[in-house]
Amino acid sequence: MTDSLNVAVIGAGTMGNGIAQTFATFGHTVTLIEVAQDGLDRGLAAVRKSLDRFVKKEKMTQEETDAIFGRITGSLDMEGAVANVDMVIEAVFENEQVKKDIFKVLDKAAPAGCILASNTSSISITSIASVTSRPESVVGMHFMNPVPLMKLVELIKGEKTSDEVVAKTKAIAESVGKTVGVSEDYAGFVANRILMPMLNEAAFTLYEGIATRDDIDTIMKLGMNHPMGPLALADFIGIDVCVNILDYLYEQFGDPKFRCAPNMRRMVQAGKLGRKSGEGFYDYSK
Ligand code: NAD
Repeated sequence: MTDSLNVAVIGAGTMGNGIAQTFATFGHTVTLIEVAQDGLDRGLAAVRKSLDRFVKKEKMTQEETDAIFGRITGSLDMEGAVANVDMVIEAVFENEQVKKDIFKVLDKAAPAGCILASNTSSISITSIASVTSRPESVVGMHFMNPVPLMKLVELIKGEKTSDEVVAKTKAIAESVGKTVGVSEDYAGFVANRILMPMLNEAAFTLYEGIATRDDIDTIMKLGMNHPMGPLALADFIGIDVCVNILDYLYEQFGDPKFRCAPNMRRMVQAGKLGRKSGEGFYDYSK
């Protein structure tokens, strides 16, 4: 099945364009689907720019990247585009209703046997699958950002996802150079369930005056051999994203270990969202 697949990627944002590029790089044929032409143009331009960087760094030739780019076709017609694919990977906004509306369409339009994957970082796969007549074919395929460079795919088994679909999805992820870790379908899966409390505890450590920002990050970075400290990582992910995930974990488990640090909540109220807004725990304005 992993020879050369027809894959549809829904959403050409940060994750969708990276997923499309990755599949095309490994020889698969990709249709990248958006709601409007400008979003599609931005997504395709992001792929071209990313491929150009590989040429600049002499990791690929111009001919190779042209061939990769040539394997990606844009489309604004989701129903038509998924009619003849082996796999769909949904990467639209992190909103349960938006995702469910898409999976209802996929259920009608995608062929039998097609794997229906979602790149959600927190929403229940079981819940998304519940709007389809084929929950055994629905699976979580959580890529990491930036997709072309990050090795991990966290694979999430919904309550009804079949073992066959899990095995096929794992083989497909490996066919595009990724290593898979499998998780049951509970809030945060594995990655965010463990990462978010660590980032949150770093925020509490600062809030309670135990250490300065720089000392917290130095201790965690050098002491644990992490590539960056937890406060710098929270800025990279987005403080608003961290707060939303922590609130979701708290709501789902009702466990105070997931309560969000007050300083992070206040930063969101002040618009300090991390790198993307120019300021978070660190100042990025210069
Ligand atoms: P994004 O906002 O960059 O892109 C989402 C895109 O989906 C937009 O371009 C939007 O126009 C498009 N879209 C919305 N509705 C659509 C529809 N009905 N049909 C087609 N396209 C539609 O978002 P992102 O950061 O790429 O995140 C996408 C998903 O990946 C989310 O579920 C998110 O939680 C998950 N995720 C994000 C990251 C990250 O670091 N950004 C990491 C892992 C997982």
